[in-house]
Amino acid sequence: MHILINGGGLAGALAAVFFLQHTKQVTVVEKRSDIRKATAESGRSINLILTSRGLFALRQVNLEAAALKLCVPVEGRSIHTQQGQEQFQPYGVSPNEVNYSVSRTQLNAMLIEEAERRGARFFFEHELTSIDFSNNCASYKCPSGTLSMRADVIFGADGVGSPVRQRMIKQLAAEGVKASETMERLGISYKELTFPHVVGEGNKRVYAMNQRGLHIWPRGAHFLMALADKSETFTGTMYLPDGSAELAVPSTGVPTFDDLKNDASQYEALIAKYYPDVPKLVPDYKQQLSSRDHGFLATLRTTHWHYKGQVCLFGDAAHGVVPFFGQGMNLAFESVVVLNRFISQHGLSKDGLETAFQRFFDHHYHSAVSIANMAIENFTEMSFKVSQAEFLKRKQIENAVESKFPKLLRSRYYMVTKTLIPYQLVQAAGPRVESCINDLQALCASKNTTVDKLPDEVVIAVIDKHLTPFFQEHRIVVGDTAMEYYPPSTRSKV
Ligand SMILES: Cc1cc2nc3c(=O)[nH]c(=O)nc-3n(C[C@H](O)[C@H](O)[C@H](O)COP(=O)(O)OP(=O)(O)OC[C@H]3O[C@@H](n4cnc5c(N)ncnc54)[C@H](O)[C@@H]3O)c2cc1C
Repeated sequence: MHILINGGGLAGALAAVFFLQHTKQVTVVEKRSDIRKATAESGRSINLILTSRGLFALRQVNLEAAALKLCVPVEGRSIHTQQGQEQFQPYGVSPNEVNYSVSRTQLNAMLIEEAERRGARFFFEHELTSIDFSNNCASYKCPSGTLSMRADVIFGADGVGSPVRQRMIKQLAAEGVKASETMERLGISYKELTFPHVVGEGNKRVYAMNQRGLHIWPRGAHFLMALADKSETFTGTMYLPDGSAELAVPSTGVPTFDDLKNDASQYEALIAKYYPDVPKLVPDYKQQLSSRDHGFLATLRTTHWHYKGQVCLFGDAAHGVVPFFGQGMNLAFESVVVLNRFISQHGLSKDGLETAFQRFFDHHYHSAVSIANMAIENFTEMSFKVSQAEFLKRKQIENAVESKFPKLLRSRYYMVTKTLIPYQLVQAAGPRVESCINDLQALCASKNTTVDKLPDEVVIAVIDKHLTPFFQEHRIVVGDTAMEYYPPSTRSKV
């Protein structure tokens, strides 16, 4: 049984480790050069947030500890106002409730290393050019010319622009199946900005800002954010409107990356107007911003993820989401767990795989759609709401109730990032949590008091009205370790 995975990014490399449980013949083919030999500058150095679902997937193949070694814990959001003040908003109600910042390059390199050590074969600098579906043969352009490889099953883990997906959809169409994909632009593009370390006492490298915060400069229709990595630097990302779609917050007067034309003086004006504390933190910001390319953000929605037990997509190739919930990789890792579970159940025969792929689609599709939609909504939270007094008031109420009744009410953010509750149930629970906060806010206003002074039975009655029946119906037990996931370093304290 030969399994071929096209794409050795995060999901492809992790899947290779999982699939080695079924066969010794796992080949991963990657278009880029070996990320283990790349310098941080030449790789994609964006730091990613790793949360419950990603950690859980890594734990299934004993890689959680290795991943955590690469991570910096992040305890909350550090909001930078336009006036230069910084305000910390913790993520949770206990110090255990942290996220993890990890370098994409380092995590990917670790996964490739492990997959190779356990027996997978990797081919780098091989770019897929075609698939012959009649005998499941993939052809590649490579430094030595061309290469063709036959496999019993070909997986597309080749990212949001997936060449496997594009070829599969064409093949389905040629066979009369109505298959389609849409790339829904968000109206936002991004560019990376590296925040260097500073030199502290004893000539030691130190972080220029608090490394335990996800730093956000919210400015309405645009924002800047930065996440720490292990090397005392921060990877920042600047998000600007690009005019491809209308935003919930007006963007009049805000330039696009195209308007700025990679002109250093234009970036100087933008930074001086909206991000005046940046020049001190990133002395070479003009050079960085005017020399780097920008990328656009989109949600990928596709009707088909597999073809006849021969080809199957997972990770961004099946469901690309925008990054504002920090869940794309976490969802991709969860997709590997779910797909692998169905392959284990139904076996590696062609029929078995066909059933496994269909069950994977049926099970995971709605999860992917739900987190895709929540991630779109969260753009406004990160770029705008986090700086609004009303948002902070509601957060205070939510935090106070979560602290006192952690088994009755948890925020949507908590359910996405700290539990394994299916995303579609989290999305459905979200408005119910909001209704609880609305009622509690109204009660506090009418009694001229704060939520911690309301009698317990009053608070519980509100939760029981809006949320408890939903949790009961779906057997969601917050505080249950099967639903919540903490890494080992904090698990014993929970
Ligand atoms: C700005 C930004 C911030 C993000 N932040 C977060 C975050 O905080 N948390 C989070 O969970 N997610 C985040 N994400 C999303 C995350 O990066 C993706 O969901 C994740 O990388 C998906 O992994 P993947 O392996 O499916 O795809 P990819 O990482 O894109 O890997 C696909 C691989 O396929 C290879 N490939 C492509 N074409 C070919 C070909 N023709 N032949 C062979 N190989 C090919 C590519 O070179 C690549 O290595 C962020 C994304 C962006 C853009």
